Amino acid sequence: RAPLLQINDLHVEFRTRDGVAKAVNGASFVLNPGETLAILGESGCGKSVTAQAVMGILESPPGYITRGEVRYRGVDLLKLPERQRRKVRANKIAMIFQDALSALNPVYSVGFQLAELFRVHRGMSRGDAKNRAIELLDQVRIPGARSRVGDYPHQFSGGMRQRVMIAMALALDPEVLIADEPTTALDVTVQAQIMGLLAELQRERNMGLILITHDMGVVADVADRISVMYAGRVVEEAPVYDIYARPGHPYTRALLESIPRLDLKGQQLSVIHGLPPTLTDIPAGCAFHPRCRYAKDPCRQDPAPPAYSIAPHRTARCHFSREVLGE
Ligand code: SF4
Ligand code: MG
Repeated sequence: RAPLLQINDLHVEFRTRDGVAKAVNGASFVLNPGETLAILGESGCGKSVTAQAVMGILESPPGYITRGEVRYRGVDLLKLPERQRRKVRANKIAMIFQDALSALNPVYSVGFQLAELFRVHRGMSRGDAKNRAIELLDQVRIPGARSRVGDYPHQFSGGMRQRVMIAMALALDPEVLIADEPTTALDVTVQAQIMGLLAELQRERNMGLILITHDMGVVADVADRISVMYAGRVVEEAPVYDIYARPGHPYTRALLESIPRLDLKGQQLSVIHGLPPTLTDIPAGCAFHPRCRYAKDPCRQDPAPPAYSIAPHRTARCHFSREVLGE
């Protein structure tokens, strides 16, 4: 049986004045129904671009998918005729973003915006569409949904607005929800509430959920598996428990060490020194080598490390994973 979503060897380039920026360099992911996959990495590692390529919202020009597959239930969307491809994306795959204000229309009430979706895509009457909108606001736990359905986006707090955006994304019952930094703009308490809500909705609806984040701290409780991206590649993939207990790639390890810990209050956080590479000029060999404390000669030579199998269901693109795992 084909996975719900399968991305194979995806390559995305941006043709810029400074040359070709290789934003995604052979990324692969699998997502099954009812599963939560977290995609982790610093900004500029290719997470958002991957999501945009899947959703068909990549800005082109300057962005181009140059190779790879985006399979939805076995069918490669990139090979489908435009109309069918758009239909799958509109009905089956939904996305939410960091900034709910830019995703919502400021001049219409949230109830109107939700109801429009049901009227246009489901052919519902005005009254039915409004009732369905209230139901949905209720499902995303907006208190007093019936009395708030006529409110405008700016009348909601940041966290409540994020819930409205989630309601919009879920309106047409997608099978896949992609959330790109959904809580980054929110304070810590609200972050946890939104993550909890996403996890609950995912379970209730048996959706596949992709959580994109730079913060390893926010996905520990909700993800099943983690894929860590660096310079457009998946450098480590593992079940969530394994990766937090024992990271297998030096980059994952560095990300973990940079999570603020309450029990170490006042101690200095270890931050990853140096910057991610410029995508027009990715280092030879392992792209992480200029920042890696385990780097040795073979790391600086092409080809880049392959995805070594380091344990059941685990891969890491590092020549020295054994050392990192502490074996
Ligand atoms: Fe570090 Fe070498 Fe592993 Fe790359 S391959 S992460 S440079 S040890
Ligand atoms: Mg991003």
